[in-house]
Amino acid sequence: MLNKIAVSAASGLLLGCSPVAQAGTADSVVVLQYHHVSGSTPAVTSIDPETFRQHLQYLQDNNFNVIDITSARDAIEQGGELPEKAVVITFDDGYQNVYENAVAALKEFEMPYTVFVNPELMRKHSGHYMGWEELKEIQKNGATIANHGQTHAHLIRKQEGESDEEWQERMRYDVVTAQQAIDENLGEQQKYFAYPYGEYNNDLRELLNEWGFFAFAQHSGPWSKWSEDTMITRFPASGIYANLNTLKAKLNSKAMPVSAYQPQEPLVAHDNTKPTISITLEEVDTFDDIRTDALQCFAGGSVLKPKWESKTQFSVTLEQDINIGRSRINCTAPSASESRYYWYSVALIRPDESGRWPD
Ligand SMILES: [Zn+2]
Repeated sequence: MLNKIAVSAASGLLLGCSPVAQAGTADSVVVLQYHHVSGSTPAVTSIDPETFRQHLQYLQDNNFNVIDITSARDAIEQGGELPEKAVVITFDDGYQNVYENAVAALKEFEMPYTVFVNPELMRKHSGHYMGWEELKEIQKNGATIANHGQTHAHLIRKQEGESDEEWQERMRYDVVTAQQAIDENLGEQQKYFAYPYGEYNNDLRELLNEWGFFAFAQHSGPWSKWSEDTMITRFPASGIYANLNTLKAKLNSKAMPVSAYQPQEPLVAHDNTKPTISITLEEVDTFDDIRTDALQCFAGGSVLKPKWESKTQFSVTLEQDINIGRSRINCTAPSASESRYYWYSVALIRPDESGRWPD
């Protein structure tokens, strides 16, 4: 694995912020997720250019190693070591304002990044999104261009009267033909997919797995060997999450060694208003470093105390009705040896009576 990273470094793809990428005991990567980089786009999915620059400065000043997505994948997949404080930067949607307001800064800081694009939307709304020429240009400078679906649809939401076959065909159009468009324009690319809205279910994961994709979600936690290939977590870094004070803890988070979890299916039944989440930790070498006595889960505004069924298994039950739409339950436990947190997040979607939910 270290050879891989060395090779990537030699080819200019690994552009660490610190002069020496330490080969420590790191086993996880923090993936940051951005959308717009602009002061005039919807606040919830935006970071203004000045704050974005502060993020890059912070990463550089604090010796984070910003690596490209493929170096991260190779290290995690092959069970190798990663540089300490490894970070992957990603942008969803490929907005033109990323080209205008982020690309120069990323180049200046020599940080690689990934842009997940929607080819059909690019075609229909040129100017709003980066076009193939811009993508080719940033690709030359070390950007990875990846797949966010053709249309940015709610993929797992069945359309009226849609059969299973029709749904699969729609998925094939949204995912596979989008990849074809990317490959035709930019040369054959690695298969990385970011779920629009971070929404997935087991059926969609199965298809992506079959088609050979690594897929990225929008609930949080470091990416590690305990992550599943079609459920890779990222930390949102836009909107309220752009605040560096809160982002610091996330950048320093450690992967919780989760070996099993319930519910397996993120789409819960409408009448399942207070789901119970059950998590099993693997008793790895570092297990004793996890302060399980101080583990807490957070859902909306409430703090949930875990109920330990055994040394390694706990459950939490929501105390308030879960909202209609997407929810995330974050569980964290302090490290016994350093001021960092182990982190694990569960994504759930609760539909309304008609099986829908807000954007
Ligand atoms: Zn998106």
